[in-house]
Amino acid sequence: HGELDAQSKFSNIRVAVRVRPLLAEEKLDGSDAVVHVINGSSLKVLEGAEGEIRTRHFKFDCCIGPAEGQQSTMEKCGIFQMLDAALEGYSAAVIAYGQTGSGKTYTMLGKEETLPDNHKCSSHSDPDDGVMPRSIRYLFTRIEQRSACRRGGTTSGSRGSFTQPQASRSTTMQASFLEVYNEQVNDLLRLSSIPKVLRWSKSEGFFADGLLMVECESMEDAISVMLEGARNRKVGSHELNKDSSRSHSMMTIHIQSSHIQPDGQCLCKRGKVSFVDLAGSERLNRTKSEGMMLKESSNINRSLLTFGKVVSCLSNNRKNGDVYVPYRESKLTKLLMDTVGGNGLTLLITCCSPSPMSFSAHCCCHVALRLLN
Ligand code: ADP
Ligand code: MG
Repeated sequence: HGELDAQSKFSNIRVAVRVRPLLAEEKLDGSDAVVHVINGSSLKVLEGAEGEIRTRHFKFDCCIGPAEGQQSTMEKCGIFQMLDAALEGYSAAVIAYGQTGSGKTYTMLGKEETLPDNHKCSSHSDPDDGVMPRSIRYLFTRIEQRSACRRGGTTSGSRGSFTQPQASRSTTMQASFLEVYNEQVNDLLRLSSIPKVLRWSKSEGFFADGLLMVECESMEDAISVMLEGARNRKVGSHELNKDSSRSHSMMTIHIQSSHIQPDGQCLCKRGKVSFVDLAGSERLNRTKSEGMMLKESSNINRSLLTFGKVVSCLSNNRKNGDVYVPYRESKLTKLLMDTVGGNGLTLLITCCSPSPMSFSAHCCCHVALRLLN
């Protein structure tokens, strides 16, 4: 009974759920999945012990089942449209949420275990490639197509023929990769550097001052940045004895295009797209139950807790008018403020394990309720 409808009634934040397959080790004891995708927008969760199993239904903007691959996830979640918007000057963010082991990194990056090895063949796609490499490829392909069109336009005429002055457009991209760990912002592209201070500017909103911005002239450049950041998140946390499941990572691609119009005026557009792999959501649940640890954990979790509050407030705002949104209570929400709160496009992908051994049901309810209330 009790169908929960987490479908957002507004379009600039959409909520998707992706249920991964049961892993081999989860099948060992003969367990069956307890989370099932019914169709593109609803799923059911089996709860309770044998004998009295209850079925709860949830609705989301998009539900992706365990048999769906990475490309299908891109398409069903509308990520290509978000990238088109970023090329047109909008801010977009794809954010993966879920407990550790639910598939966040697989969804965003791909198989983490084999990632650095893909370095050499960065422009070749692999079926396991996640949202980030696929998005990078798409962005560069679109830009190439646009400039090929233009070149086609000027060279197609026979030699010596008169060519009209063309409107010229150029696009440049820069990438950065940061981590929020224990409310500290670290540059994942320059590990030894001191934590970054957040500052605010009218044009950019909050930004990490002094963060390395890497000029990306090619797809390979951007893929290298992605791999470097991903590797540093993993290796760096290992060396510094940090728990990487507590860190939020965020790669941002800034896209600037200038368009010289026939009358000589320059039209400039600045868009961006951020890819966020959030800290494991199980910390959130644990914090609630362990009173003693609350103070310490709440700092570690502040960004995640605040992110949840922000999403919940935004959905309240749509229903009840202006409600205070606590963006400034954490580093992560400050960094996402202009996208999540402004005219940006946000996609939250809630990753979920189907195993009865995990809190997945719990986790889905959690997000669903947040977005409803
Ligand atoms: P998280 O980042 O949320 O901790 P991972 O992305 O590391 O979780 O996923 C945990 C394990 O499950 C990894 O071995 C990963 O390769 C695998 N996995 C996750 N999602 C899928 C999927 N959709 N298809 C196949 N394997 C997956
Ligand atoms: Mg991960």
